[in-house]
Amino acid sequence: MIRPVPLLSQDQIDRLPIRAREVVEYRKSGLSLNHIQGCPLGCAYCIRHTYGLWDQNLPRALMTDADAVEHLVGHRYFQPHLTPIQLLNRATEPFLPTVRPHTLAVLDDLDGRGLTNHILIITRHQLNDDDIDRLNRMRHLKVTLLFTYSGITDQRVEPYPSHVAADSLKLTSAPRQRRYRTVLYWRPLVPGLNDTAEHLAAARELSLHADATVFTGLFYRDQIADYYRANGIPEPYDDTARRKIVPETLEQRVLDTFAGSPSLFRKTSCAVSYAHGLPDYNGHYGIRELCDICPVRQLDLCAGAHRVPTATQVHHIARVLPEAAALEVVGITRRAAVVTGLDVEQPRYFLQHALGFQIHDDRHPHHEYRHGRADIGWKDTPRDE
Ligand code: SF4
Repeated sequence: MIRPVPLLSQDQIDRLPIRAREVVEYRKSGLSLNHIQGCPLGCAYCIRHTYGLWDQNLPRALMTDADAVEHLVGHRYFQPHLTPIQLLNRATEPFLPTVRPHTLAVLDDLDGRGLTNHILIITRHQLNDDDIDRLNRMRHLKVTLLFTYSGITDQRVEPYPSHVAADSLKLTSAPRQRRYRTVLYWRPLVPGLNDTAEHLAAARELSLHADATVFTGLFYRDQIADYYRANGIPEPYDDTARRKIVPETLEQRVLDTFAGSPSLFRKTSCAVSYAHGLPDYNGHYGIRELCDICPVRQLDLCAGAHRVPTATQVHHIARVLPEAAALEVVGITRRAAVVTGLDVEQPRYFLQHALGFQIHDDRHPHHEYRHGRADIGWKDTPRDE
């Protein structure tokens, strides 16, 4: 008998770090619902380090599943059938035995409302036939399971073995008829740790099971670097960065290993969209160099959906957000609209998904050929877009 995770009292919630109290948060790949927080798997690079939740290794709920769904669909950033949702991706593992019933309950509730939004579920845990059965009951939601797999064997970095995610990916991808999609979420790729020719070949082999594969690097933030140092874990980089790190030579070796693959992507939203036969919901098509590994049919889909908005249209979408009152559009090209006046990132993602077009902050320019990536490990002087 699996017990539901304990529900925190209001007093306990009030004592959580501020960011942990934010149950709905917009992240780049979707609006993230995190009413359960805490995880025992202990990955050294866990994002929980960055907002004071690292020590919380038992899952606890901040509200019931029913309240969490109400909170999500009532949120000013939520748009029915449009906003991509990420379920329990920030602070717990959605298929831990105690969390699994909550994950499935939220899916049932959202699907029962007839919502057709993308819903992304990132997991490294063991899935089973019952999970497949439950996921196949979804009638409306576009469900994607993203299996985090790294091939890292250093238990100080990843105590929970990568082969579990590989086995779950194979199991859930096997049914010929299924209503959900599977993605090999190959991350974090770290030079010297999991980038031998054997590691790359193993990921290539595993990718044959998935509907799509996305590769990405490590978020190496200050708090995570502190943890590495305190625990004597070899530091992968000399410096930290606000974006994920994928050195140039490693990217090229990945592309060489996957030469001829029809389903390798640099961006999560591209892999998810491709798996459902839809254009990228983040509008990456404007960043042309991202698309050089994309299959022709998908390129055509994204090209057909690519619309460059006017500044008036950007302002029109932003008018419902009080936090975007100072928004200014300082430039629009076929690649992106560049804006100022947003103190935080979340409204930018709202605009990006509403328009299906890249919205960049003038303070954090993306550099050509390394969109969304840190400069660490790239040799040429970056050119601003
Ligand atoms: S065409 Fe470009 S934007 Fe569209 S899915 Fe492929 S890589 Fe992403």
